[in-house]
Amino acid sequence: MPNPFQLVAGDLALDFANTLDSRYDPERRLELLPSYDRFIAFAWQSGVLNRAQAQRLLKQTGEAEGQLVLTRVIDLREALHFLFLSVETKERPPRSALESLNRFLADVRLPQSIEWEKGKFHRLPADLVSTPVGPLVPIVEAAAALLTSPDVTHVRECSFHTCRWLFLDRSKNHTRRWCDMKICGNRAKAQRFYARQRDTG
Ligand SMILES: [Zn+2]
Repeated sequence: MPNPFQLVAGDLALDFANTLDSRYDPERRLELLPSYDRFIAFAWQSGVLNRAQAQRLLKQTGEAEGQLVLTRVIDLREALHFLFLSVETKERPPRSALESLNRFLADVRLPQSIEWEKGKFHRLPADLVSTPVGPLVPIVEAAAALLTSPDVTHVRECSFHTCRWLFLDRSKNHTRRWCDMKICGNRAKAQRFYARQRDTG
């Protein structure tokens, strides 16, 4: 599997929220999760699933079921985008987005078990591939953890006007402006350069 996603947000939940590229620019807007397969590719690239788990899920999920799961994936993605955006804009979060996240917190659960082995109890990790929605569980958990963490105040929106991806600003002075210096920092630099040339030329 190739690595098509630019995971630059510094947090799984924000990288997931960024999977609608150029959201505010109708001409460039690009759905990075157009199919269940692409969602699994995201889960694999972001480390939610290993390769074997990703392949197993793809194999055991039929097309119709994958489509249904994709609808839920996009629902969650949209809810997370607006919840984290409300943190960034310091506004009250949309009630529907919060309800949506809470529905996922309540519904998306994986079977867990305690085993007795070698004279000790062991908690087995949840089996992410036991259901096609399994990979959503770590994403929902990452979102809940970040929303309630002190770090949430460092969620920023990329300053490049067509990008506006969300990211977690872990820089020392919390002055980071771009989702990624190599992507949007350079785009902004190029734009300033051409604007100067236009002004002087
Ligand atoms: Zn950007």
